[in-house]
Amino acid sequence: MKKVPITVAYGDGIGPEIMDATLKIILEAGAQLEIETIEIGYKVYSKGNPSGIEPSSWESLKRTKVFLKAPITTPQGGGFKSLNVTVRKALGLYANVRPCMSFAPFIHTKHPGIDLVIIRENEEDLYGGIEHRQGVDAFQALKIMTRQGTERIIRYAFEYARCYGRKKVSSFTKDNILKITDGMFHKVFEEVAKEYPQIEKEHWIVDIGSAKLADSPQSFDVLVLANLYGDILSDVALQIAGSVGLGASANIGHGYSMFEAIHGSAPRRAGQNLANPSGLLLAAVQMLIHIGQNEIADRVYNAWLKTIEEGIHTYDVFREGTSRMKVGTKEFAQHVISNLGKVPEVLKPFCSSRFHENPKTDFRITVPPEKKELVGVDVFIDFEGSPVELARKLQDCGQRLKLEMIANRGMAVWPFAYGESLLAGPFQCRFVCANRENSLKIDHRDVISLLNVIQQRELEFTKTELLYSFNGVEGYSKVQGE
Ligand code: NAD
Repeated sequence: MKKVPITVAYGDGIGPEIMDATLKIILEAGAQLEIETIEIGYKVYSKGNPSGIEPSSWESLKRTKVFLKAPITTPQGGGFKSLNVTVRKALGLYANVRPCMSFAPFIHTKHPGIDLVIIRENEEDLYGGIEHRQGVDAFQALKIMTRQGTERIIRYAFEYARCYGRKKVSSFTKDNILKITDGMFHKVFEEVAKEYPQIEKEHWIVDIGSAKLADSPQSFDVLVLANLYGDILSDVALQIAGSVGLGASANIGHGYSMFEAIHGSAPRRAGQNLANPSGLLLAAVQMLIHIGQNEIADRVYNAWLKTIEEGIHTYDVFREGTSRMKVGTKEFAQHVISNLGKVPEVLKPFCSSRFHENPKTDFRITVPPEKKELVGVDVFIDFEGSPVELARKLQDCGQRLKLEMIANRGMAVWPFAYGESLLAGPFQCRFVCANRENSLKIDHRDVISLLNVIQQRELEFTKTELLYSFNGVEGYSKVQGE
């Protein structure tokens, strides 16, 4: 078998120990790899590089296209961006695949029989990390989701289900509140699902869906989730299955892939030969499948299952009564190595070789054309007085734009007000086309002249959002009480 080049990073904290253990096991099992090592994480941050990765390391990643990565420590506080997010975005790793299984009765869980996969969108949503302070008392984050990014992850999830013989794809959104962003996700989910009639589909509102997942995870198969929901719920699912310490993830894009444990660098456990290498080892199994070394992947996974079955456990999953021997990182790895070639007796043996293809990753997505028309603008204004005073100051500001309403924190406060709501942060002042019924059209010049007048009246605007309609349908949310 030809050796496959991969890039390896040992990371921080417990990273070097679990990477050592993982590489020893997979190489002993016969993995054919040509390993290039790069440095990432705390040491690189400390050298004054705020991205946590040296420019030369990108060369290795571009060459090998496959990255096995140990966890890193992200410095707390401003200035440093998460390296994980940077790598995912820079390499276009749009799908985060997190399998979640329970290993009862050998690893304690209230939920034996969990066998689900969470497919989390990896690049969009609040993880754009686009945050601003709108004023002294208003903090905002932008949740940006695109039709292309959404359709791609949903198609990937259905392709994943098809390739791995899974029966159902579920999706969670909060589209009863977030009608535009999550509403689009739900709509695309329904559209794509129609192309896979052999796969069952279901949609849940994320709050009750999460409760159902925590209560009866056995009833889920594949879940496709937007970035934030996927991040939170994959930890929940893994923890109730046994331990987040066993969680692995594959970050998949069209050209590149990255494999890592889902846990962090656990600095308090570093250097003590305590850490459980299982999360990273199972990520390496995903990597072996991805690069077509399925038989080696099966050998490693089955030896690992056998070790778990024998009750040989690291401290994090060790439980008096169920476990037989508490071992350190190195000893655990040694036991897995001595079990290579064996299969578990109670747990279901792993057999990735029966799946013959990896899910497709390159989807040609065309966004349907729509007629886009500027119909107004929301101007956010920092103002100390009452909504009525502000409305008075804003009357007749725009020639072709008229003040329609004022809201505060999404609640209408003028011309209707309910009186009890806290007034804090900027007021959202909605100006709409003054005479749309008579086909009056507005453009950006009208918005600019409106802002000029607002500024001349010594009102401080902090932000604007243009209001568009698409094929005649409003592309912005109404406010509460409007
Ligand atoms: P963590 O996952 O590192 O650790 C939380 C606790 O879980 C640890 O104290 C430990 O008790 C336990 N634990 C985690 N992994 C374990 C393992 N393999 N074996 C045994 N016990 C384990 O989370 P944290 O303490 O919040 O974060 C530490 C650092 O890791 C932070 O700097 C964070 O930014 C970073 N982090 C990195 C990644 C990544 O590189 N992919 C992911 C998450 C967090």
